[in-house]
Amino acid sequence: MNTILPWHNVLWQKIMQRWQKNCLPHALLLCGPTGMGKGVFAQCLAEALLCETPLKTGEESGSACGHCKPCHLLQAKTHPDLLQIQPADVGKQISIDQIRHLIQFCVLTAHYGRYQIIIIKPAEAMNRNASNSLLKLLEEPPPKTLIMLVSHQPMALMATIRSRCQRLDFTRSESAVAQTWLHNQLNNSPTYDIRLLLNLSSQAPFAALALANDMTKRRELFDSLAALSSGKNDPVHIAEGWSQLEVVPILQWMLSGTRDMIRYAMTAQTHYLVNHDYQEMLQRFARQFDLHSLFKLLDLQTEAYQLVTSKANVKAQGLLESIAIAWFKSAIRRRK
Ligand SMILES: [Zn+2]
Repeated sequence: MNTILPWHNVLWQKIMQRWQKNCLPHALLLCGPTGMGKGVFAQCLAEALLCETPLKTGEESGSACGHCKPCHLLQAKTHPDLLQIQPADVGKQISIDQIRHLIQFCVLTAHYGRYQIIIIKPAEAMNRNASNSLLKLLEEPPPKTLIMLVSHQPMALMATIRSRCQRLDFTRSESAVAQTWLHNQLNNSPTYDIRLLLNLSSQAPFAALALANDMTKRRELFDSLAALSSGKNDPVHIAEGWSQLEVVPILQWMLSGTRDMIRYAMTAQTHYLVNHDYQEMLQRFARQFDLHSLFKLLDLQTEAYQLVTSKANVKAQGLLESIAIAWFKSAIRRRK
């Protein structure tokens, strides 16, 4: 069974009150940054609504008991009243056939006489036809059905889909709560700089946890940027090295570094820098670029990031090469 995450407590209590008053909406749009645990919240809510004897007290009041028959089916991922819709593969779209299957699922009545629950994640992966098909269902929802759309890019959804769902916003987690949770997840190891991990991940705890395992790759990136700035390495060769790593985090770290360089270039202050472990390196980089080149670099990186996160099958190599070449040329120009 999933456990309510500590930074979800307030939202959880609110949704539980609505359930007790019998006024849960038929469709919820769970939105917020990646790594906030929106999917875990959706699972917890599905489990709570399907459980026969939800917990009565405590912070987790309303959540599933973990012992009844529906709970056992949920644990085995075989509960017939819960349907999860997601792309067949990472980066793929959710097809109209998947939504047709969902509509057929809704025609049936709930096997256990409680709710029928659908989780669509990530909702922005639905293509146009799939969205239009879902729209009809959202307009005439069957009773005792809850459709949860999980999205970190709600603006990528059709406006008509957004307007037919009630929105649950997962905003930045409270710092102390997230720090304690992350510290526990990392077995209280002193190796990790918890505040740095959260700052680099926009205070999204799951993103910070993933980053903890990726700090070596981040170091490789910063080393390669230093090599690029020194003018001694071929930018195409460096871009090839980047493309061997996971492109999305590489671009996120680059963007974060470039923003820090702009902050420093504009204020000459270091206490605004997010990547404080690379403070000296970023200060040095910032002095190598003029502000105009830094903003151009930021534009290139932002564009590349939007492309690789919004479209499947984007050829990242070319995007990374143009970033590496722009970096190399700007740093060289300033050094002369
Ligand atoms: Zn139960």
